Amino acid sequence: MTQTAVDDEQGTVSLPGGFREAPAVTTVFADLLKHGPVARVTVAQRTGLSQAAVTKAVNRLDLRGLISTHDAAPSSAPGRPVQPISVIEDAQISIGVTLRVDEIIAVATTIRANVIHSIHRPLASIAVDSVVDAIDEVVGAIVDALGPDADRVIGVGVGVSGDVDKEHGVVRDSPRLNWSQVDLGALLAPRMPFPVVIENDVRALAIAEEWFGIGVDTHSFAIVTIGAGIGCGLYVNGDVVDGALGVSGELGHLPLATTGERCTCGRRGCVETVASSAAILGRIRAAKRKPSLTMQDAVALGRAGDEDAVAAFEAAGSMIGLAIATMANLVGPGVVLVAGEAVTNYDLFEQHLRSAFDEHAFGAVRDCRIVTRTHTFEDWARGSAASVVHSMLRQTLTA
Ligand SMILES: [Zn+2]
Repeated sequence: MTQTAVDDEQGTVSLPGGFREAPAVTTVFADLLKHGPVARVTVAQRTGLSQAAVTKAVNRLDLRGLISTHDAAPSSAPGRPVQPISVIEDAQISIGVTLRVDEIIAVATTIRANVIHSIHRPLASIAVDSVVDAIDEVVGAIVDALGPDADRVIGVGVGVSGDVDKEHGVVRDSPRLNWSQVDLGALLAPRMPFPVVIENDVRALAIAEEWFGIGVDTHSFAIVTIGAGIGCGLYVNGDVVDGALGVSGELGHLPLATTGERCTCGRRGCVETVASSAAILGRIRAAKRKPSLTMQDAVALGRAGDEDAVAAFEAAGSMIGLAIATMANLVGPGVVLVAGEAVTNYDLFEQHLRSAFDEHAFGAVRDCRIVTRTHTFEDWARGSAASVVHSMLRQTLTA
């Protein structure tokens, strides 16, 4: 983050977009963003602010052109008209970028993470310089698509898999991109006319779910992404878990496998050595002695009941179920969303995932709901866009 959030002299903080306001204004804005449209009285109840303080904050936000107050919708209580207030969605625009090994995706979203524009481009190389150029290019294309609306862009979020130091914008270790200690924030900053946020991609997805998905109704949930890697975003007691050192929820690198195979991270025994797409495919290729076998072939074999394929998918399911139970026993989420590209093959391992979870879940953790959620790659970019707003509000709310 390049933006200064706190003005010590006046005790004000910055809202997304750089407006300086009292902390109560930010608190009300954050509540409206997540729950709006709502009545002032509800905002007061939820935030613990007095109704007078809420009204004052609402007036400031109105003045800034960030919210609208509706006069419609009469209340169910006779004689007491309700004036629901909501954030003006497109008053501010966020740009989100997500990286796959062979593709880069960028979106422009409203402040409530609704996608306005999206761009997909092939990624020729995952070398740092090429990726920086590619990010610059897709952000430029999004800005062109926005035209005059680009004036309302508040920042660019970039989601990267692996160990990401959000505070300093450094990708410390990304096995999937084969990056180590890449100062991505500093490389991008001179090329971007907006503040840049670098975030772990699964955590970015959790942020979007926190505000505009399952987090609206539950105070603790986890997203487990399955596919090329096994990731996990944690949302506990009303906030996304960053971890003091920037690492948290590395489910794929829990040392639960007994096969002793080496992981992409260099360690042995990680969950990913059994449960990642590459691990499943590798096992089936070896059993079939067919190195050219594709994931599509593997899935077809599994669905046709081929013993080797079925065993590989079931082993992955059991491993993921064990990993989820381990995480749930520690954290206690009410819901686990299973997402990621491998969800399309969920029928091949769901039963084993659930039995392993039930077997290892302690006490009431067994009541934790496990549901699947299909995310497109655009949803990942949308999460990166949400992380910009989250990062700005988090700074001001904790200042
Ligand atoms: Zn590992």
